[in-house]
Amino acid sequence: TTLSNQIAAGEVIERPASVVKELVENALDAGATQVDITVVDAGLREIQVIDNGSGIAASDVPIAFLRHATSKILTTRDLFNVHSLGFRGEALASIAAVADVTLETATESGLGTVAHIAGGQLDDTHAAAVRQGTQITVRDLFYNTPARLKYVKSQQTELARIVDIVNRLALAHPEVALTLRHDQNLVLKTAGHGDLQQTLAGIYGVSTAKAMVAFAGEDLDFHVSGYTSLPDTTRASRNYLSIMINGRYIKNYQLVKALIAGYGSKLMVGRYPIAVVAVTMDPLLVDVNVHPTKQEVRLSKEAQLAALLTQTIRDRLAKENLIPDA
Ligand code: ADP
Ligand code: MG
Repeated sequence: TTLSNQIAAGEVIERPASVVKELVENALDAGATQVDITVVDAGLREIQVIDNGSGIAASDVPIAFLRHATSKILTTRDLFNVHSLGFRGEALASIAAVADVTLETATESGLGTVAHIAGGQLDDTHAAAVRQGTQITVRDLFYNTPARLKYVKSQQTELARIVDIVNRLALAHPEVALTLRHDQNLVLKTAGHGDLQQTLAGIYGVSTAKAMVAFAGEDLDFHVSGYTSLPDTTRASRNYLSIMINGRYIKNYQLVKALIAGYGSKLMVGRYPIAVVAVTMDPLLVDVNVHPTKQEVRLSKEAQLAALLTQTIRDRLAKENLIPDA
């Protein structure tokens, strides 16, 4: 129902940045290699995401907007073996409950589907000539939930949150070419060649990215790799630190601590590296179904992963002759 979708939207769609995150994750799950994001008035007036992914078949379009409708998992067992960013089937239903949504999608260039959903009701679908992929336009977010709208901060704050989440998505997927535009201005453009350092340069600047060092390490369960800054170029905020697990940006303080531990006494108290840590592991070892936004996860062998990360960073910095052998 519209009401239950609005309630669910309260959990998944807190602010414009949540819409951007969910739409871009869908594009990534659809195998897109190019994702173009445009926001107007910090996303409150309009958010548009265009991808060149798999598209949605005409018969699946009405289903995509149903709550708990997901094409990504089929069984309960799959819930513990999630290979995609989405799996709860809540995002599109939630967004459509609190905004005006237009969808254009095609599984191959030619005949596709255009659909319009207002107030959670699909009120128009028709066939039309559409490029392969999906274009979703979300207008007037929270127009029918004034309380939610009140909770939204200044446009400057909301835009900063959008930029932040797009940066993390770009860092998690250097193989995908992403653009972000706000009110006609190009905010971010990544090449999509799979070069993480180049993506870092696009976000933090060329000199910052160049001053970072690559690291990699593995054990039987985990592979960790990424870039981190040397102790003299660290920051006083954790915001420059991104941890990705199987391509998903997550928040995990144990892993932040493990990264910092790798610096030993070389890191000043209260300072944090600028870093991207990409972890790959068997999806069976990570439970993503902890929180609706999927940014908190439960790791089966967290201590083992933390130890691997600390050791990898420690070994890498030792190569820079920064840390004398203990
Ligand atoms: P989830 O991502 O958890 O499956 P969503 O509500 O985000 O749920 O999306 C519902 C379904 O709509 C997805 O499972 C997928 O089949 C389809 N879908 C949504 N966005 C896209 C897209 N950009 N490209 C292809 N299919 C999409
Ligand atoms: Mg999704």
